[in-house]
Amino acid sequence: MVRYVYFFGDKHADGDGSMKNLLGGKGTGLAEMTNLGIRVPAGFTITTDVCTHYYEHNKKYPEQLEGEVKSNLKKMEEAMGARFGDERNPLLVSVRSGARVSMPGMMDTVLNLGLNDDTVKGLINKSGDKRFAYDTYRRFIQMFSNVVLGIDSSVMESILEKKKEERSVRNDNELTYGDFESLVDEFKDVVRKKRGIEFPSDPEEQLWMGISAVFESWDVPRAIIYRKLNKIPENWGTAVNVVSMVYGNMGDTSATGVAFTRDPSTGDNGFYGEYLINAQGEDVVAGTRTPQPVNEISRKNPDDISLERVMPRVYKDLLGYADILEKYYKDMLDLEFTIQEGILYMLQVRTGKRTAKAAVKIAVDMEKEGMIDKKTAVLRIDPYSIVQLMYPAVDIKADKDVVAKGLPASPGAASGEVVFSAEEAEEETKKGKKVILVRIETSPEDIHGMSVAEGILTARGGMTSHAAVVARGMGKCAITGCSFLGINEKNGEITVGDRIIKRGDIVTLNGSNGEVYSGYVSMVTPEINEDFKSIMEFANEFRKLKIRANADTPEDARVARNYGAEGIGLCRTEHMFFKGDRIKAVREMILSETLEERRKALAKLLPMQKSDFLKLYSEMKGYSVNIRLLDPPLHEFLPKTEKEIRELSDIMHVSYERLKAKAISLHEVNPMLGHRGCRLGVSYPEIYEMQVRAIMEAACEFHNSGNKITLEIMIPVVSIYEEIKLLKELVNKKTKEVMKEYGVEFEYLVGTMIELPRACMIADEIAKEAEFFSFGTNDLTQTAFGFSRDDIGSFLPDYLNKNILKTDPFIELDRSGVGELMKIAVDKGTSVRRDIKLGICGEHGGNPSSIEFCHSLNLNYVSCSPYMVPIAIISAAQASLKDLSK
Ligand code: PEP
Ligand code: MG
Repeated sequence: MVRYVYFFGDKHADGDGSMKNLLGGKGTGLAEMTNLGIRVPAGFTITTDVCTHYYEHNKKYPEQLEGEVKSNLKKMEEAMGARFGDERNPLLVSVRSGARVSMPGMMDTVLNLGLNDDTVKGLINKSGDKRFAYDTYRRFIQMFSNVVLGIDSSVMESILEKKKEERSVRNDNELTYGDFESLVDEFKDVVRKKRGIEFPSDPEEQLWMGISAVFESWDVPRAIIYRKLNKIPENWGTAVNVVSMVYGNMGDTSATGVAFTRDPSTGDNGFYGEYLINAQGEDVVAGTRTPQPVNEISRKNPDDISLERVMPRVYKDLLGYADILEKYYKDMLDLEFTIQEGILYMLQVRTGKRTAKAAVKIAVDMEKEGMIDKKTAVLRIDPYSIVQLMYPAVDIKADKDVVAKGLPASPGAASGEVVFSAEEAEEETKKGKKVILVRIETSPEDIHGMSVAEGILTARGGMTSHAAVVARGMGKCAITGCSFLGINEKNGEITVGDRIIKRGDIVTLNGSNGEVYSGYVSMVTPEINEDFKSIMEFANEFRKLKIRANADTPEDARVARNYGAEGIGLCRTEHMFFKGDRIKAVREMILSETLEERRKALAKLLPMQKSDFLKLYSEMKGYSVNIRLLDPPLHEFLPKTEKEIRELSDIMHVSYERLKAKAISLHEVNPMLGHRGCRLGVSYPEIYEMQVRAIMEAACEFHNSGNKITLEIMIPVVSIYEEIKLLKELVNKKTKEVMKEYGVEFEYLVGTMIELPRACMIADEIAKEAEFFSFGTNDLTQTAFGFSRDDIGSFLPDYLNKNILKTDPFIELDRSGVGELMKIAVDKGTSVRRDIKLGICGEHGGNPSSIEFCHSLNLNYVSCSPYMVPIAIISAAQASLKDLSK
């Protein structure tokens, strides 16, 4: 027969640690503590199955539940030596929610059930304290009326406040027995008026109403939203715990508190916690009294009175319990306790929430202490939280004035004065100012402004738009797709709703959640320490995937190596075209009308690219370096202003009008699907020839000076076999030529990006030529969904709100569509070339869930922006460990 209720009390529990799905987190904790011999008030847990049954059967309970609750209530009475509804010695209970995973504050709890005009006398009899008994009674009516009867809490709260005013007192502690007695009557009157009923006085009725209210609270809007945000399935349901009441407000030998077995913010191995004498849990939450530290070590003020000092014996018990529990759970724990007249009761145990820094320290320390192994230590780290250790973050405790919200395109946080152009950014930073560059969208020409700005904010664009990709590469905070912003560069103003932000005003960006704040907001600075290095070493022992970085400059490459990258997975050569005066030569190359003119311009670029490559190789000695030939649509490099065209016409000795006409003729309606990638190589082979020459001349010199790298030359946007065939020939021919000139030979690979659906479908043909595949999942996502990566910001919020998409597919790889295409490509590619090197260089290469997918596809490596490397290392190790445990 199915069992719906599990008892705990009298040193024995029906449930155990393996039953979390059935008993919920709180229920399991109470059962386990009881089994460990820890003092827990007796009670029982109604399983999550009942919640599921309740919602599946028109809010009806299984038939046998009533009988099971009755018999377990009886056991509880025996364990506690009191009777539910008894007029002399009443048992009072709390009814508490408890899902499989903690949903803090989202669901309801009712305390002190079982009180009525008769049993309150029993409570007086038991406690010898009239005032306490009536205070408890009014608390019960207040809470029950709100949670169960749905009466707005402010109604009774204001009556209480009025009472305090009449008596000129500050808190509940100073009200008298008479005050509470009259509050009980007044509260009952509210129920009569608001609900047209007498306040329920039958304890059994109260209990069932309480149980239903807690089950109902699974389905309130805030809980639904919380589940959606935290990806908690709807059908899990909550358990309900009915627990004997113990009182922390029975005078000066009673107290209530919370504690952590280690410091949740630093991870230091020391007991840490707070308590309040003569108080109930809700007093701690209400914040009307200042909690005191549990021990002497954590005293901050001379007036602090620690539990260690006032109740040394109880403190010792608490420490003892904490020790037993931490050894049992082998993790840092969050404990709730109540002391009733000098006796300690544990009310809750769960794994403690912690900062990223504490998580790393605790995992490393526990491994050193022999409590957990390295695998467990690595699995304890939330890879997303590593971001907190790499970037400055907005202080969660700081006051914030949110003015707008966009997409969290690049993590971190930054404050500065608003500027509207790259030029302005440069000018202002030269004066020593810190700036935030605000643009409708950024283009490669803004690079110089982006590189000096503290952060970047754009009205358009998605998670893989230019601003996002470049900012992430620079380790700079960025918010994109902030469509609320009305940017008027000319007037130097941004309108957001009815507010105006002017040029020079201070704003703060929170790249972790996409919020824009007005003014400065305090921040927490990152800290890379020995513990961080240790956890990375642990992770390196387990991961199968290699980790590379997308790096275009020697500086990026150095950062990447420092964080543990094992090569470059993508060097976007076009990013080198914007440094200094180079753009002029690039424009000359694009606008040339004859081959001869173009070769002249290319000859200027060759030495610049060559010297860049040499520096890049030097940072990556011994590793693989993947260099991609020119990819983006040419229009990105076109001169736009009259000044730019005039300047060029002087250099090229071509009339202004002719140049302007040429620039206009190169305009494309849909450049992302236009003349880009290998199509440029087909139309203008001399561009690719120059790039291959630069790559190879640098490589030959590097080689001749006794150094080594594994060079990979990558051809972008391939979708037709003939494209790769033709361009591979070009690469090989040029390479041969250069190697001959330098008198050396070494191995190198020629391969392709797989970033178009057709490329996936004909990957077997492509693999006949390509020696490696690198998945360009930015473009593959764009073309598989038909979502423009630069425009998704305008409609993505609707898709997320309406649950059409669960996550942004440009952040988390869409396994069922894009992932399937990748799988086809892997299968087809390996069927032709068994040892084909496989990697990913789209932004997904730094996303934990996508990395797990890449591991399952047996890719050789993932490549991500340099600052994401540690996240990728942890994610790759976790993917291996989860795979092994299957
Ligand atoms: C991609 O498309 O995934 C990619 C890495 O190339 P880019 O972002 O430069 O188009
Ligand atoms: Mg691409």
